[in-house]
Amino acid sequence: MKSSIASRFQARLDERRAQSLYRQRPLALSAQQPIMQINGFPTINFCSNDYLGLASEPRIKAAVCADVTAGWGAGAAHLVTGHHLHHHLLEDELADWLGVERCLLFSTGYMANLAVQQTLMQKGDLILADKLNHASLIDGALASGADFKRYPHLDYTALARRLQASEQTTLVVSDSVFSMDGDLADINQLSGLANQHQAWLFIDDAHSLGVLGEQGRGSFSHFNQKIEVDHILVGTFGKAFGTSGAFVAGSNVLIESLIQFARPYIYTTASSPLNALATREALKWVKQADHLRQQLFANIRFFRHEAALLGLELLNSASPIQPILLGDAVKAIHWSEVLKQKGFWVAPIRYPTVPKQQARLRVTLSAAHNQTQIESLLSVLADLQKADRENG
Ligand SMILES: *Cc1c(COP(=O)(O)O)cnc(C)c1O
Repeated sequence: MKSSIASRFQARLDERRAQSLYRQRPLALSAQQPIMQINGFPTINFCSNDYLGLASEPRIKAAVCADVTAGWGAGAAHLVTGHHLHHHLLEDELADWLGVERCLLFSTGYMANLAVQQTLMQKGDLILADKLNHASLIDGALASGADFKRYPHLDYTALARRLQASEQTTLVVSDSVFSMDGDLADINQLSGLANQHQAWLFIDDAHSLGVLGEQGRGSFSHFNQKIEVDHILVGTFGKAFGTSGAFVAGSNVLIESLIQFARPYIYTTASSPLNALATREALKWVKQADHLRQQLFANIRFFRHEAALLGLELLNSASPIQPILLGDAVKAIHWSEVLKQKGFWVAPIRYPTVPKQQARLRVTLSAAHNQTQIESLLSVLADLQKADRENG
């Protein structure tokens, strides 16, 4: 029987509303920064990924405005006429920074994650992925046609068993900092296991670049590991870089293969050349941003210390992602609503983004937050916690 769009979706939409799982898009009326106009109200933003506060850095904006050579639009795909000098130089600068042979730009991290797995892996291969990997990594694995198995979160004994059992070409895939939990994969163990079993290793460094490692070089640097020949790194610019887009880093053969065969690279317009210029400028700041990283980690330590004193349930995270576990989706919405009324924007994260009964408030911290802002957030959280205890 044929159906209309409404008959297919209306009941599902109604069900989501009834379960407190309906999503809205908050409307931002100002630049991305700690104090923002959202839905017409001034709020202190605690759910941005702008970890170093570069998204509204005036010197990046000034560099873009000063360019008289590049247009906004790329006009075509990279393989046609869309590959601008700013894209090319950004790729070289990223490769120098990370100590890899080559980098390749993508319009988004989502597309980079699709491209890597879809292009490298084929039917008969095996992808072994951490259970809590980002949705784009899961979609990329599913799009590849390879066998896809997930190991329990951070359980490298389970991963080793599966590697031991595999005789297929195998790709191990993991987030470095996990986007919903904020905890960190062990790059030493992953790299060791991959080498031991001749598997390829693919790390998504979206939340690590700019934050971890020397000069913000990310998780490999944090663990004093080299990015080796069968390693693939994806980085994104939408987090600590404060711009948008992504890249793949690795060997010359890897990058040439993506240029020749990756459909999410070939069949799409290149990102704006001025975005590439903004990102080149952002890279300069990221390299020099030790003072911002120090401020960021001071904010993280302060928040965790104070939140623990309040008895809030935090996860094992040393990253800017600091979830407060609440369990029930209705409670997460309620806390988020009260915070909103008091002028704080903190995203409630619910099923299906996280497992059922693991609903949480996902607080993210930035070097741009000051201590007073964090203290005032904690004071509302203290009131909510107290009211919750009193109501049993
Ligand atoms: C944000 C994110 C992505 C997607 O990157 P976009 O550039 O926003 O598409 C991929 N992986 C992880 C872990 C992320 O947090």
